[in-house]
Amino acid sequence: MNARILDGRSLGRTIRTQIRADVEELTRNAAVVPGLAVILIGEDAASRVYVTNKIKACADVGIRSTLIEYPNDVPAEALIDAIKHLNQDPAMHGILVQLPLPPHHDVRAVLHAISIEKDVDGFHLYNVGGLVVGDMIFSPCTPFGVMKILDHAGIPVEGKNVTIVGASNIVGKPMALMMMQRDATVAVCHEKTRDLAQYTILADILIVAAGVPNLILPQMVRTGAVVIDVGINRLPDGRLVGDVDFDGVCRRASCITPVPGGVGPMTVTMLLANTVSAARRFVDRTRGPILEPKRLEGAAPLT
Ligand code: NAD
Repeated sequence: MNARILDGRSLGRTIRTQIRADVEELTRNAAVVPGLAVILIGEDAASRVYVTNKIKACADVGIRSTLIEYPNDVPAEALIDAIKHLNQDPAMHGILVQLPLPPHHDVRAVLHAISIEKDVDGFHLYNVGGLVVGDMIFSPCTPFGVMKILDHAGIPVEGKNVTIVGASNIVGKPMALMMMQRDATVAVCHEKTRDLAQYTILADILIVAAGVPNLILPQMVRTGAVVIDVGINRLPDGRLVGDVDFDGVCRRASCITPVPGGVGPMTVTMLLANTVSAARRFVDRTRGPILEPKRLEGAAPLT
């Protein structure tokens, strides 16, 4: 079997065309340009690359973005004050704090300072609670992007066995909740899981977000499974790879996402979608629902 490649770059482009139209509509009908504030703390090289990509993607669809940079040793109070200020800024509809933070910062305190209406990453406790009860306000961007890839490819989720490798707050756990919301049977594995393969081999849909190159080998994958590789790893020779042995697993899986060009571009695309949702809700809150209902909501199928 030679797996079908699920091309996140191409799907991301299609969705961004729709987002660009949404931004134009908001600007034309409500005189509101969606705005995203991005906060970057410290000098982590990978974080800087991610932030630069997000800022460029905003410009590409007409979202106004502001990058606010702080040194590693910025005092916690200064950071929280800056977030509170942005919470009040009517030109900024979304606020994103690039993770990971330098170790001495209290990530929870920082994330929970973001107004729930501007929490476009979906990491605030309130939004996490919404995810748990199936009432999503902002869907965390990476799992949201994975759902879009599956929906666009016509891959059903209901009743399927889904194994998720990785249980982080930003990928694995919200991914599991979204899958449960869509009536999948979900197993979540992590680094303490004994005999990972006994779970992965059961998966109709295998989602891997561990940050370990070649963690998933062909013999761990059920023939015909759908494999979603969220991992991003830079090898010593400079190559970017996921967590899955791509060439080997391609021969067993029915569908697979590549790295790069799979989940990564979709994560940024869903951030743009969430920012436009935030701007739309701002307009609805402040002036009443004068616009058409928004098209890219929660983890609903792309229509
Ligand atoms: P994390 O370090 O916070 O969590 C990793 C998870 O994987 C943990 O639950 C850990 O227990 C588990 N894990 C680690 N080694 C394992 C092993 N050998 N077997 C089973 N489980 C194991 O990482 P994260 O932030 O969730 O990111 C995971 C990966 O996804 C990283 O490579 C990251 O770069 C990538 N990522 C990609 C995107 C994207 O847009 N494509 C977005 C976020 C993260």
